[in-house]
Amino acid sequence: MQDSEPNSAPLRPGQPRVVPRPQHNISRANISESALRVLYRLRQENFQAHLVGGGVRDLLLGHEPKDFDVATDATPEQVRQVFRNCRLIGRRFRLAHVQFGRDIIEVATFRGSGSDDGESPERQVRDGLIVRDNLYGTIEEDALRRDFTINALYYDIADLALIDYAGGLEDLRAGRLRLIGDPVKRYREDPVRMLRAVRFACKLGFTIEPETERPLFELGHLLRDIPAARLFDELLKLFHSGYGVAAFEKLRHYGLFGHLFPATEACLAQEDHAFPITFVNRGLANTDKRLAEDKPVTPAFLYAILLWEPVRRRWEALVAQGMATTEAILLASAEIRAGQRPLIAIPKRFSLPMHEIWALQPRLEQRDGKRPYRLITHPRFRAAYDFLVLRAEAGEADPELADWWTRFQEASSQERARMTDPSPRRKRRPRRQKRSESSA
Ligand code: ATP
Ligand code: MG
Repeated sequence: MQDSEPNSAPLRPGQPRVVPRPQHNISRANISESALRVLYRLRQENFQAHLVGGGVRDLLLGHEPKDFDVATDATPEQVRQVFRNCRLIGRRFRLAHVQFGRDIIEVATFRGSGSDDGESPERQVRDGLIVRDNLYGTIEEDALRRDFTINALYYDIADLALIDYAGGLEDLRAGRLRLIGDPVKRYREDPVRMLRAVRFACKLGFTIEPETERPLFELGHLLRDIPAARLFDELLKLFHSGYGVAAFEKLRHYGLFGHLFPATEACLAQEDHAFPITFVNRGLANTDKRLAEDKPVTPAFLYAILLWEPVRRRWEALVAQGMATTEAILLASAEIRAGQRPLIAIPKRFSLPMHEIWALQPRLEQRDGKRPYRLITHPRFRAAYDFLVLRAEAGEADPELADWWTRFQEASSQERARMTDPSPRRKRRPRRQKRSESSA
């Protein structure tokens, strides 16, 4: 973006700031071919077609956009008629997905503002929460119902100009995250915007403008009204984008973390040693590092980290009550998962491996005989071992045990036989000195 456009004139409703093509830095060369195809095709059919949201924001900042979102005056049904490779999704917020190979372009119809009394069947508001948002409107109305000013910038494919209805260009230049409209009302309409505020602040390194920031300390309880499946999706965006440590710290700073992970928060809040926080931090730092190195990450491991501390404490308590250690961890896992389920819906394909990572922890303590050979072929062994290493680094598990498994994996069959033979270990154990020796 260049500085030639006036940057202080207050925006009046209906008076957007328009930045013509020569005065901004968005080039079609940086827009994906699929997005351009969608934009041009809609235009051909005489619909309006704009790039909007993260794509425009990230291009202006010189970042590579994660994906491209398109806004249009065509209804979802009309979009479907234009593209064969199109699927309509979402009930609360109906959208068209146009697919080119693995690339999906999200096409949203301009939303209208409507009245807030919840009368219209297309736009329903209950206790301030928008439960249905399918009332269509003009581009200006669409801009003002978006979340942050920097997410409400439009790139018009008709003349390649940038259109700013909400002051987003100025905020972008200032590195500032600002909700459009009254922040408390906007968070109540959709509490997920609180998580989005944290996400964009971390991702872009922006400061949250004070009016937008203040309610974050107070409105965390609203997250409980969000469907558990949507929270799962949002939290993955937060923790699997490479800045998980920063996101965790911000969520705790605003008191939001406890509304998402109450059992974990209870442990962190009354931590007696430093390791619960250290453990979560290390786990998330490890995930961030893997993402930076383009290594795969899985929600199973992420949630194993986030929920470990309550599982571990419950496990310890059950063992102290006399339960066998392998049985106790199964029960602890079941209890913590049941407590978490109403808040965040972790799909089975992740919650099962998460459970296995935990369940293998006591089994990693059994090093004699055939057991290590069996364990090492378990499909979840590698994840469980990585988890043990993290626990050891955080000072919660025995580093010697983690080290033993590291060596065992690399050892020759002869060495393995020696390592799993209980007798040498017993022999090596120092014998008790006799009283007469020690006093001598
Ligand atoms: P990302 O880089 O993560 O894709 P994004 O800003 O594009 O960031 P999306 O979730 O793809 O985020 O949403 C696209 C756009 O839709 C946003 O930029 C914003 O304008 C609008 N939007 C998304 N979610 C909301 C919401 N909960 N409330 C209001 N507007 C939203
Ligand atoms: Mg996007």
